[in-house]
Formats: sequence, C-alpha cells, structure tokens
Amino acid sequence: MIRKLLRHVFRRKDTPLPGKAAVIPLGQHGIRREDISAAAGRVCETLQKAGHKCYVVGGAVRDLIAGITPKDYDVATDATPEQVRALFRRARIIGRRFQIVHVMFGPETIEVSTFRAAHDADTLKDEHGRVLRDNVWGNIVDDAARRDFTVNALYYDPSSQTVIDYHHGVADLKQKTLRMIGDPPARFREDPVRMLRAIRLSAKLGLILDPAVRTPIRTMAELIENVPSARVFDEMLKLLFSGHAAECVKRLREEGLHHGLLPLLDVILDQPMGEKFVMLALASTDARVRAGKPTSPGFLFATLLWHEVLANWEARKTKGELAIPALYEAMDEVLDIQGEKLAITRRIAGDIKEIWSLQPRFDKLAGKSPYRLLEQPRFRAGYDFVLLRAASGEVPETLAEWWTEFQDADSERRAAMLVPESGPKKRRRTRSRKTSEAPTEPGTGTT
Ligand code: ATP
Ligand code: MG
Repeated sequence: MIRKLLRHVFRRKDTPLPGKAAVIPLGQHGIRREDISAAAGRVCETLQKAGHKCYVVGGAVRDLIAGITPKDYDVATDATPEQVRALFRRARIIGRRFQIVHVMFGPETIEVSTFRAAHDADTLKDEHGRVLRDNVWGNIVDDAARRDFTVNALYYDPSSQTVIDYHHGVADLKQKTLRMIGDPPARFREDPVRMLRAIRLSAKLGLILDPAVRTPIRTMAELIENVPSARVFDEMLKLLFSGHAAECVKRLREEGLHHGLLPLLDVILDQPMGEKFVMLALASTDARVRAGKPTSPGFLFATLLWHEVLANWEARKTKGELAIPALYEAMDEVLDIQGEKLAITRRIAGDIKEIWSLQPRFDKLAGKSPYRLLEQPRFRAGYDFVLLRAASGEVPETLAEWWTEFQDADSERRAAMLVPESGPKKRRRTRSRKTSEAPTEPGTGTT
C-alpha cells in the first residue's frame, strides 16, 4: 500500500510518460544497470541529476536484449545540445543535418541526441522527399516515432532498469521480426539509407524482414542514388565490417539492392570465379571482425574490385598493350568508375592500388625479385590477397604455398627455393622487366 502510494507520488513528481508506452521491467528484458558501459551510465546519471530525462537508446538496447555486446552507445535526452555540452568536460557538438553531442570518457564516446520532433510540412526535404535538416526538438513520443525500426526505438532507463517501448519493439525482437515504424515506403523516401540498414540489421540479428518492409525495397532501391555518396560509403563500410558481410551481401542480392548501388557487385557476383573470390574475402573479413582483429577497408575493396580489374586488364592485353602499364590503366579506370559512386577516399584508393600493383610481382620466383617483394611494407596485405586468389582458383595453390614457405624460410632454404634463371637472354629480360616494374615501387604507383 505504502509502496503503491510512494510510486504514485514518485511518478507524479517525475512527470508521467507521455503517450501510451509499455514500461518493461528488468525481469522481462534482462538488462541490468551494470550491463551498460560505464560511460553510458555516467552520461545518464549526470543528465538525470541535472533534472533531464535521459535514456540509453537504439542499437545498444536492442543488442543487449538480443544477447549481443553493443558496438557503441547512443543516449537520448530532453536536454538541448548546448545543455548537454555544458554538463561534461569533454563534449562537442557535431553534425548539421542532425546535431548531436559526442561525450568522451576515456576511450569511449557516447553519442547524445536531443529528442527530435515529428516531421511536418516545414521539414526541409529535397525533391525526392529526402529529409535535409532535422534539428527541431520534441518529446520522447515524437523521438520514438521518428526512429526507423521498432527494435531500434527502445529506451533504457538505468536508474529504474526499465525499458520504455512505444512500438512493441521488445515483442518484435523476441519474434525475430524487423518492422518499420510508420509507413515503410514513406520512411524509405525520407531516408533511402534505411533500406541498407534493414539489410544490415536483419543479417546481424538474424531477423526476418516484415513483408511491408521487404516489398517496397525492390521498387525503391534506386532512390539510394540521390543520397550523398559519402553517406552511402559510410553505410557500406558499416555493412562490410559488421562481422556479417557475407550474409549482408547475400541479402542485398536477394532484395535486388546491389544493382546500381554497388555496380561492382553487379558485375562481379555474376562471374562464377568473381563470386567465389568475393565471398571468400567477405568470409575472411567477417572472421577477422568477430575475432576482434584489425581490418582494412583498402584490402576489402581491393578484393571486391579485383575481378573488374582483371577483366579490364585482360581486354587491354588482348589489344596489345604492355602488361604492367595496362594494369595501371585498368586500376585507374575501375577506381574512377566505382569511386564516383562510392566516394572511396583518396587514402583508401591508394591502399587498394598498392595491393593490386604488388600482384604481378608474386609471379616472379627467380633472382632478387622475391627478396625485394618481402621488404615491401605492404607485403603482408599483398600476400593475404594471393592466398584468396589461390583459394578461389585464380592462381595455383602451389604459388600461395611457395610464398607461405619462402617468407619464413632461412636463407639457405630460400636460395634453394628460387626458380633458376638461365642464360644471358633471361638476364636481359630481367633488366627490361625491372624498368617496367619501376612504377610498382610503393609511393610511385599510388595516389
Ligand atoms: P549499430 O550501432 O549496431 O550499427 P544502430 O541501430 O545503433 O546500429 P546507429 O547508426 O548507431 O545504428 O543509430 C542509432 C539509433 O538511431 C538507431 O538505433 C535508430 O533508433 C536511430 N537511427 C539511426 N539511423 C536512422 C535512420 N536513418 N532513420 C531513423 N532512425 C535512425
Ligand atoms: Mg549504435
């Protein structure tokens, strides 16, 4: 009785939640206060002590309920970005279209966003209906309604250890369904990147796309072309380094989303050898991500585009172009075409070219060439690339085995492994090869 009264008084003082929310207790969702990161806990506590509403929201709540360790933490509050910034020593406001505050504690960065208002006629949109600016504040009900999927609209309050759920997100998560909040075609028009998010999240969490989400994707996929390429590239990186890239690409194809969006996948996945190579590359990246090992976008994009380069290179050689210059032309052409779409940064393009340009040098098993290759700073990446080429059947396994042994062999064994060079004719060829090889030295053949 007393507890009931206390709860009543407490609720009144704390102002009741607006709208019709399910308030889900610890026993049903299982997220204890200590399960969230220390930094997320500190951010919520500080904001709540200052009199604000504050919740862990989005992916972290979803992942914790699904038994996955969250990649990062997002926090939602009724404090404005300026109010948030003023409460923390290391905090800065970022973004234009969508202003948020980054609060830093040690190695952790918490993204704090202010509750957004629902869109209305005044919302700034482009001619396709894509929302351009989004800094009108609202309350938790508005904020929940504007999130993309029901499983992403869960608010965890560490002080009461409850989850606030306006859209049956917990039930959808338990039933393994990815359901859109609102009308899926309208939500895809507002932000076409949500189509990619649907694929990535469904692959990551093993969710089935609700038919209402799935059906419009096929006809709306081309809207992604109007999204600034840097944002598409960011989303592609998230997808490729999610630890579920192979599954994501499989689902992108099933939903017809790889057409146009990823011209590279269009072509490559339709070539039997290319598909094997790309799938092996994705599986190896997934394994690295899941094992917490470092990964490099340059390496992965080099694999994704390799069969494009091979096809382009072959065509040039057939026309009589010299092998090495033709490879460089092919690399540039492929990167120009794909780079335009994907906004591959110059640095990543440089890494990609370095890996590709090393490849012909792995064929040279005679003379000083293998020793020089071992000294290349990017030897390891080039060698990993050869392993994939061998595993996919593009080059003989024996070539990969040769390099596996050569790099760790002692000097006597190395000398014995070299393929013998014979006669003065061969030496002359080596000299002329040296000149054509020159551009492959690091730093000269890259941007
Ligand atoms: P992860 O962090 O695992 O990649 P996430 O769902 O947390 O997944 P974020 O990009 O961190 O993805 O976004 C945090 C939250 O912001 C989401 O859970 C969702 O509620 C909301 N959100 C993100 N992008 C969009 C979008 N394009 N449209 C609507 N809501 C979005
Ligand atoms: Mg997140």
